[in-house]
Amino acid sequence: MQDLTEGVARFQRDIYPAKAELFAHLAATHRPTTLFISCSDARVVPELLTQSEPGELFVIRTAGNLVPAYTPGSDGVAASIEYAVAVLGVRDIVVCGHSACGAMTALAENHDLSGAPAIADWLRHADASRARATAETGARKVDALVRENVLAQLANLATHPSVARALAEHTVTLHGWVYDIPTGSVEDVAAPGRQAARAA
Ligand SMILES: [Zn+2]
Repeated sequence: MQDLTEGVARFQRDIYPAKAELFAHLAATHRPTTLFISCSDARVVPELLTQSEPGELFVIRTAGNLVPAYTPGSDGVAASIEYAVAVLGVRDIVVCGHSACGAMTALAENHDLSGAPAIADWLRHADASRARATAETGARKVDALVRENVLAQLANLATHPSVARALAEHTVTLHGWVYDIPTGSVEDVAAPGRQAARAA
């Protein structure tokens, strides 16, 4: 915890004054351009890998970057998606998976999750992802599942009424990325072979 409090002190001393104008603007303005949905994994830092400033990304992070398909009822992920799309009017939505994802590894390698029932239940939102990635075996299976999971979650995203409406009106664009931790590369898996930087 001391690391965090020292970090806050450093932020207030060095970072905040350097961006004082930006923070003054943001005090009364919240107009992010992008909804960024990533895994909760500590190694994935959306603002760092996209070099975004405060105020630019509206971020949702879930284990395995899973987006439950829309169902009526109370749901924090659905509410955050609706807020970003229908209220804030983001123009782009990125679902970003990553290499060596613990959630995808657990599924690909059939880990015993009987002692972690909440995780086991949550990962059912990747059932379609697993069904799409059955062809690969061995070490490549995790990579394949990571990619297919991004595509499956993009499909889930489109079931949310706010997203469906924005897609029909061509006011939002969906992107599927995979971030590779050891190389720093970001591939657009909705357009295989392309780097996200060039695809944008
Ligand atoms: Zn992950």
